[in-house]
Amino acid sequence: MGITTAIPFPFLQNLDNYLLTAEQLLFRAEVNAFFQQKHIIDMIENIQQQSYSEIDVRPLYKLMGEAGLLAVHWPHEFAGRNKTLIELAIVAEEMVKVGIAETLFILSIQIVGNLIWLIGESEQKNQWLPALGQGTQFACVLFSELQAGSDLAAIETMAVETENGNYIITGKKIYSLKAGLCDYGLCAVKISHDKSKYDGISVFILPLKQGNVVVTKIPSLADEPFYEVTFDRLEVSKTNVIGKAGDGWPVISACLNLERTGLDAVLKVNRALDVVVRCVKDHCLSNNDNIKEQINQFYCQRDAARIMTYSLLEQYHIEACIDQEKAAMSKWFASELAKQVLEFGVRNIDFQSLTKNPALEKEFSSLYRDIPGVTIAAGTSEMMLELIANSQISLS
Ligand SMILES: Cc1cc2nc3c(=O)[nH]c(=O)nc-3n(C[C@H](O)[C@H](O)[C@H](O)COP(=O)(O)OP(=O)(O)OC[C@H]3O[C@@H](n4cnc5c(N)ncnc54)[C@H](O)[C@@H]3O)c2cc1C
Repeated sequence: MGITTAIPFPFLQNLDNYLLTAEQLLFRAEVNAFFQQKHIIDMIENIQQQSYSEIDVRPLYKLMGEAGLLAVHWPHEFAGRNKTLIELAIVAEEMVKVGIAETLFILSIQIVGNLIWLIGESEQKNQWLPALGQGTQFACVLFSELQAGSDLAAIETMAVETENGNYIITGKKIYSLKAGLCDYGLCAVKISHDKSKYDGISVFILPLKQGNVVVTKIPSLADEPFYEVTFDRLEVSKTNVIGKAGDGWPVISACLNLERTGLDAVLKVNRALDVVVRCVKDHCLSNNDNIKEQINQFYCQRDAARIMTYSLLEQYHIEACIDQEKAAMSKWFASELAKQVLEFGVRNIDFQSLTKNPALEKEFSSLYRDIPGVTIAAGTSEMMLELIANSQISLS
């Protein structure tokens, strides 16, 4: 996702009073103040002026890590502050407000880091979490392959065990976001071909910046490029396996549930609403009562999506797990809503007027190409509906 301009977040204040404790409200104010510091504003401006196809936010994330704002829910030894995932969501919301892309933050901390935090052995936490929390190293997700997207158990990347207990990994991953900026990838691999395709899978943390690994950018319709990652006989220790070797399917499920809280999709809804509202203000979109009523309905739906997301983050804090069906509902609702808001904008916009505001036009176009991807990443809407339907059928 490219950098965007500030977002007003209508109604957020009211909902915050309902969703957040007094301490969390103070925390939001602290994060907001962090982003208002002169040297941070300067750095954000520098990042926004980058003309690379992959905007590099890592220097800013490092400053956030130094301030204990990157992995707020981890303990102090992992550069955190012992808070909860609600505070992590607050950080993400404040980042988006000041126009900082959050994808790398969500991937490295909310997904990969949290999975290590949830399932990893204590040596593994000590090895990887401090640098992730400090923002000096980053991690991405390497699950999909050409023939294995929705049907993830069809992966063909193989790990062969050596006599000394290491693994040699060969295969190709695709559609990974941010791999070009990352030091590690959380990678789903087959270690044996058992009767069930869900058996014999292991999840590894693999180093990306070394020989035997080739990371290639693939162009995408969206501004953010994808990457293809090829492993050619990469040898790693068995200590790089997260969870039990050969029993990686529950690890993948836990990871997907972390990806499906709806947090990133709610942030996209905010961006989409912001652009549409600015189009109204800029007279590229009609200012009549029907339009205003629809936009207000979108705000209400956005708040409902946010409540669902926050309840899942709360569940994670209390139970150290996330309910699969509820996560599917949250992800489906928020990502489809983001798409609906942009489609509403396209149906009603006066494109000739929009061309008179090139910055807004660029942002509209960027979101229009980016947002459909949220309904596909981490499981398509059809797969979310299937999960929800299955849970309803098994209830009756
Ligand atoms: C923006 C974006 C970011 C991504 N980031 C990552 C990443 O960081 N790391 C990573 O590993 N992958 C990533 N992916 C890949 C993503 O996980 C896959 O694209 C997704 O799981 C769908 O797989 P596929 O593309 O192979 O489509 P397919 O699985 O081939 O699906 C094609 C179509 O068939 C439908 N379909 C498939 N099976 C069923 C079924 N059983 N019932 C009903 N309909 C079905 C799907 O809903 C879809 O409409 C990303 C994708 C996008 C768009």
